[in-house]
Amino acid sequence: MKTKSLLKQARHLVAPFRVTRGDRFRLKDFDPGDTLQFHSEDKPRAKEALALGIRALAELQDVLYANDQWAVLLIFQAMDAAGKDSAIKHVMSGINPQGCQVHSFKAPSGEELDHDFLWRCLRVLPNRGHIGIFNRSYYEETLVVRVHPELLQRQKLPSALLTRRLWKERFQDIRAFERYLTRNGVVIRKFFLHVSKGEQQKRFLERIETPEKNWKFSAGDVAERAFWGDYMEVYEDMIRHTAIPEAPWYVVPADHKWFTRLVVAAAVIETLVSLKLTYPEVNRAKRRELAAAKRVLTSTSTSGRRRRS
Ligand code: ATP
Ligand code: MG
Repeated sequence: MKTKSLLKQARHLVAPFRVTRGDRFRLKDFDPGDTLQFHSEDKPRAKEALALGIRALAELQDVLYANDQWAVLLIFQAMDAAGKDSAIKHVMSGINPQGCQVHSFKAPSGEELDHDFLWRCLRVLPNRGHIGIFNRSYYEETLVVRVHPELLQRQKLPSALLTRRLWKERFQDIRAFERYLTRNGVVIRKFFLHVSKGEQQKRFLERIETPEKNWKFSAGDVAERAFWGDYMEVYEDMIRHTAIPEAPWYVVPADHKWFTRLVVAAAVIETLVSLKLTYPEVNRAKRRELAAAKRVLTSTSTSGRRRRS
C-alpha cells in the first residue's frame, strides 16, 4: 500500500469538513451538495478511489486488531434518509467482522430509561483492537430530546435536576466522557451526515415509489420534517459544544451518497494512519518458539510420520 499518497489524498478530502473547535462553527458554512473538485461525471473515478480506500482500511484494521491497544469509536448522526446505513455498509465492507461491531440506538427501552443516558452506550463500547460503530448515539439526548422536550418526562429524572442548564450540562458531561475515553485509548470520530431538506424529500419519495424500498419508509419520518429548522439549530449547537481536537466532528455533505462514502472512508483512514500502528514486536523467546515450531512442522510429513533425513 502506498501509504503516503493515500494519506495525502485522504487529508485533502477530509480537511474541509473536520471541525475540531466548535466555538466558531456555523452550519450554514457547510453545503450538503458539496463534492469538492469532483463532478458527477467523475463518479467512476470516485468509486475507484473508494475501492482503494476500502482495501487500505482492511489492512489498517488488521494491524489495529493485532496491536490490541487502541479502540476506535465511530459515531454517526443524521436526519432520516441521509445515508448513515449505506455509508456504514460501504465503507466497512472490506473489514473483518471479527474486529468490528455496529450498534443502532433507537428510542430507549424501559430498562434503558431506568438508567442514566450514557448507560446503554457504555455497555457496548468497542474492545481494544476493535472498531465500534454507533448508528445514532448518546447525542440523540441533545437532538431529538431537545426538539421534543416532552421525551424528558419519560426519563424519570428528579425534578430538581430539570433546570434550564440541562442541555449545557449534557454537553459538559459528553465532553468529559469523551475526554475520559480518549485518555483510555478509545479514539473517537463523529460524523454528521449533512443532507438537505430537498434531497431528503426526494429519498422519501423514492422509498414510497420503489417496492424494494417501501420497508424503509416510516410516516413518522415525514411528520418530523415539520421540525427541520429546530433540528438544524440543535445540530449546530451540538457541534459547537462538542467539537474538540481529541474528538472532532466531520460535517459530511450527504446529498451525493458516493461523495459521502468517500469522505467517511478518508476520515477513518486518516485516523488509523495517525495511530502509527505496527504489528506487535516479536521478542527473542517468541522467535525461538517460531523456529522450534517450524522445525517440528518441516520434520513431519502430512500423515504425521517423521521424515527421514
Ligand atoms: P432508518 O434510516 O432506518 O430510519 P434510524 O436510525 O432512523 O434508521 P429508526 O428505526 O427510525 O432508525 O429509529 C431511530 C429513532 O430513535 C430516531 O427517530 C431517533 O431520534 C430515536 N432515538 C434514538 N435515541 C433516542 C433517545 N435517546 N431518545 C429518544 N429517541 C431516540
Ligand atoms: Mg428513522
